[in-house]
Amino acid sequence: MDFTHDTQEMLQMTASLVNTAQDDGEELRTVADLDAFLAAHPISGSRAGTADEVGAVRAMRTTVAAAWDVEHRDDLVALVNDLFARTDARPYLSRHDEWDWHLHVADGGQPLADRIGAEAAMGLADLVRADDLDRLRRCEAQGCGGVLVDLSRNRSRRFCSTTCANRTHVAAFRSRRASS
Ligand SMILES: [Zn+2]
Ligand SMILES: [Zn+2]
Repeated sequence: MDFTHDTQEMLQMTASLVNTAQDDGEELRTVADLDAFLAAHPISGSRAGTADEVGAVRAMRTTVAAAWDVEHRDDLVALVNDLFARTDARPYLSRHDEWDWHLHVADGGQPLADRIGAEAAMGLADLVRADDLDRLRRCEAQGCGGVLVDLSRNRSRRFCSTTCANRTHVAAFRSRRASS
């Protein structure tokens, strides 16, 4: 199953959000941090621009991160349905700026954290429907702990970022050279 562009964006956004909580630090502390995240993953609609909003997004992050710990499809269903209900998701089609018709999953006036949760739920719902939970992976770079969504056709993605990929390849090269 090929995933629609909407779904891919929603899943990438979700993985990026989860990766803002790193073992070595919190990347979502301030309103400016949230601005930076939204610059990379635009979500239309209103913003409060407050510390409370940042806190609510962090709480939503904890909720959606559980998707990467799910082992059975039915457990992901429970998480997705809970998110749909909790965020009061209301899907509708929209066409704006340079974008053709695409799905929005929550009214722009709803709290940002809820809109993020609803988008995450919609993306994860497609993984359930495709019975393709294996797409949810953990980064294989040593000591990273980040998550990724492998949407590549040949399911070849192993790292959360090019930084992790490069670091791993350099380490492998060094150890090969050291042992030769
Ligand atoms: Zn849009
Ligand atoms: Zn990584």
